[in-house]
Amino acid sequence: MFKTKYAEKVYAELVAKNKNEAEFLQAAQEILESLEIYVEKNPELEKKKILERFLEPERFVQFKVVWTDDKGNYQINRGYRVQYNSAIGPYKGGLRFHPSVNASIIKFLGLEQVLKNSLTSLPMGGGKGGSDFDPKGKSDTEIMRFCQSFMTELYRHIGPDTDVPAGDIGVGGREIGYLFGQYKRIRNEFSGVLTGKGLTFGGSLARTEATGYGLCYFANEALNTLKKTDFKGKTVVISGSGNVAIYATEKATQLGAKVVALSDSNGYVYDKNGIQLDVVKQIKEVERGRICEYAKRVKNAEYHEGSKGIWSIPCDIALPCATQNELDLEDAKTLVKNGVIAVCEGANMPSTLEAAKYFIQNKIVFGPAKAANAGGVATSGLEMTQNSNRLSWTFEEVDAKLKDIMINIFKNSYAKALETGNAFDLLTGANIAGFEKVCNAMLAQGI
Ligand code: NDP
Repeated sequence: MFKTKYAEKVYAELVAKNKNEAEFLQAAQEILESLEIYVEKNPELEKKKILERFLEPERFVQFKVVWTDDKGNYQINRGYRVQYNSAIGPYKGGLRFHPSVNASIIKFLGLEQVLKNSLTSLPMGGGKGGSDFDPKGKSDTEIMRFCQSFMTELYRHIGPDTDVPAGDIGVGGREIGYLFGQYKRIRNEFSGVLTGKGLTFGGSLARTEATGYGLCYFANEALNTLKKTDFKGKTVVISGSGNVAIYATEKATQLGAKVVALSDSNGYVYDKNGIQLDVVKQIKEVERGRICEYAKRVKNAEYHEGSKGIWSIPCDIALPCATQNELDLEDAKTLVKNGVIAVCEGANMPSTLEAAKYFIQNKIVFGPAKAANAGGVATSGLEMTQNSNRLSWTFEEVDAKLKDIMINIFKNSYAKALETGNAFDLLTGANIAGFEKVCNAMLAQGI
């Protein structure tokens, strides 16, 4: 697994300290495998224990969130915030509300976020947070009371120059609004403490679209460079049907591709004529319904139970945009057998490490999450700039900056991949490109 004794030792210590944290260890292993080449070339880094210091979060907070449901019953959830690394800027990263959230998930997301934020070239450190609260089936007032209670604990740890949370799974514009309102009430302060805000109170145009659009900008650039082609005329399969999936579908379609499938955690829809996005937006954004509804409303569309089946649909480009480990080695083999040429990750760590390696070995254009989905946090960084300057840019201005950032992320990751001798190894390339800046800042700042 590792080529150097140093990485092996660091990983063994990490396993001993974080025994039951499978997702965190998976992310750490992937990063360590990439970074050992870099560290080998810079032996003083081992003396300064840079990998050990990098992998240990600066702060990890867990707190109790008590709230009352509409029937007056008391409910108790667990809240988290990891402040992973602040070497290059204030902590920055989303909040996830999903029943699967635990310390391992938050730490894996926080660690990934450090490198992702560095890749954007904006001054943002890495953090992540969330709760095991399940927003599904909750009323608006229940969501509001939960968000208020969550922020009543979180507010003391964050601030516009300290830590700036945003959305993630289960946290969209509605939740950010309630969280912002409570922060403002407690602190008596109107500041850019959260991103993904509504447009009437400091939000940035194009933030909603940013992760999905950015994913397609990245994938298009990678296809251009590595396969001398683009989205035009391609068949695309996208998993999930949330924020990232919806706007990836929109941009892929604008770039001339046909998106034929979307999913949620229950199943997937297949529409050979191309997904009608207005129908999806109505179901998911307005009605907050299930994706199976699509097949009831669109003629000839099919619904299949079980979300994994989506990877058996033949396609040129696959964009996993749902959740971690949703695409394993078997799925990767099926996609490659069916002729896929690009797999770019909209979700965080959607491919298992074996699946990612399989794509790279088979010279598939593989866009790792921390590079390919960095458009969301990059645009959050642009929202922070607009808030600090008390101004707002047009949609076109933000979109143009987003596109530039995504193309640069590809170029920087690609340049490092070339140094490893494998132009398709954007995974190693992105890890090294992101790490270099953080590592230099950590060294410059001492212990
Ligand atoms: P949303 O909550 O808007 O949507 C999540 C989607 O993924 C839903 O369709 C959901 O279906 C599906 N999903 C969740 N868990 C599972 C599961 N276990 N199996 C199958 N499908 C599942 O979240 P986002 O679109 O914001 O986030 C999606 C991914 O993108 C996450 O990995 C997130 O970390 C990542 N990401 C998001 C960014 C953003 O700006 N929003 C930025 C960068 C990365 P269901 O309704 O059934 O749960």
